[in-house]
Amino acid sequence: MSKMSHNCDDALERMYLYLDGELTAESTEAIKVHLDDCPPCMDAFHFEERLKIVVRTRLQEEVPSELMMRLTSIIRSETLLD
Ligand SMILES: [Zn+2]
Repeated sequence: MSKMSHNCDDALERMYLYLDGELTAESTEAIKVHLDDCPPCMDAFHFEERLKIVVRTRLQEEVPSELMMRLTSIIRSETLLD
């Protein structure tokens, strides 16, 4: 938390690109380093990672966005219970 050299906002922003496989190898490495060093971002990353897997699976079944919202809250509460 005390390391100001790491920018969490930037890391979180890039996280989505990372999950989409759209980052360069260099940026991917920077994200990994940040996640290893930053538990809050690591948690957020795991959440997004899980959400993305669910979304990808559910999209193939063409689930309405309303249900997607519900899935999001389900995963979020599961994450809080971890
Ligand atoms: Zn962070």
